[in-house]
Amino acid sequence: MKRTVMHIVGNRPQFIKLAPVSRELRKRGYREIIVHTGQHFDDNMSSMFFRQLDIPEPDQNLHVSGGSHCKMTAKIMMRLEDVVIKYYPQIVFVYGDTNSTLAAALVVRKLNIPIVHVEAGIRTGVYENPEEANRIFVDHASELLCAPDKRSLDNLVQEGLGTKSYFTGDVMCDAYYNYKNQVDAKALISKYGIKEKEYILMTWHRQENTSDIERMCQILRLVENINKTVICPMHPRTYRKLKDYKLLGKAKEIKNFHIIEPVGYLEMIALSSNSCLIITDSGGLSKESYFAGVKCLYMLDIDVWVDLESIGWIKKLTWNNENDISMIHDIINSQMQGNRSNNGMFYGDGHASEKIVDLTEKTILL
Ligand code: UDP
Repeated sequence: MKRTVMHIVGNRPQFIKLAPVSRELRKRGYREIIVHTGQHFDDNMSSMFFRQLDIPEPDQNLHVSGGSHCKMTAKIMMRLEDVVIKYYPQIVFVYGDTNSTLAAALVVRKLNIPIVHVEAGIRTGVYENPEEANRIFVDHASELLCAPDKRSLDNLVQEGLGTKSYFTGDVMCDAYYNYKNQVDAKALISKYGIKEKEYILMTWHRQENTSDIERMCQILRLVENINKTVICPMHPRTYRKLKDYKLLGKAKEIKNFHIIEPVGYLEMIALSSNSCLIITDSGGLSKESYFAGVKCLYMLDIDVWVDLESIGWIKKLTWNNENDISMIHDIINSQMQGNRSNNGMFYGDGHASEKIVDLTEKTILL
């Protein structure tokens, strides 16, 4: 009987990252325990991803959501400890950089169970960014660090973590290429009444862009001035904040702006790969823009994927309306002239999950 491994996940991007790793572990006969912290709980932010991506139902849900960063982290820790003790897995996989990741790493470390950090080594250099501290703490608490790109590996080496760090490639690249084949993109986008390459896909939900009314107004002004259809599967936090700021009515009145409910991953692949530009503050979606072959305008003043910025794939909003509108039209026009490419050159070959499980077997589950 193969050994027991545990995954601890809590939000949408983590379910997507979990899918290829879980599939690989099941293929090799491991007993898997999935713990859902409860951070995302709506059907279209959580269960839909388990169904669509064929991930087994979570074995436990801790039902922790909302609250300040500290309260959420502490609550997850309180509820998680007994669950980890109950199953006592040989190893625990954690993903990305959320409060769920941090809480999981602290609990599992205290119980002396080895941790594999999937998507290790990412650094923005902006300590105030709430996810940055999580990344650093989790990397330093883990036994095996799986870097999605070479730059992340370099960061880990510089922090003295080189002996347990490996470049595996990015599991999001695995997921994108794997599920892309299952998507009937034309059927999915026609559902939204939009045409291939004639719309911009937009998402935003980061604290920096939602917890200030002025910033929200600025974003709406930008959308209003883009002479193109903008389709926005809106994150619940953004929707709630627009409502709180009494801006939702105004947002809905913007003619070219189509707010829709958050969509499943397959719909998202269809929407991203057929758009003419992606505008987002999402770490995941900005990187997927590269897999989709569609350029990206990033809505935060941090260097999110430096390699993609260095080749001009990702550009940052300047927050000067006139500049930004002209940059948007320039990017769209240049893409129309065939300046598109997509390959996994920075993020591996779409087989990161196999490498992660190989390394886990070689270095931990000996
Ligand atoms: N995503 C999705 N449906 C949506 C919006 C995003 O499936 O309505 C996917 C997106 O393709 C990417 C991931 O969710 O794979 C990004 O998640 P999010 O933007 O919530 O978080 P971040 O990556 O910024 O941590």
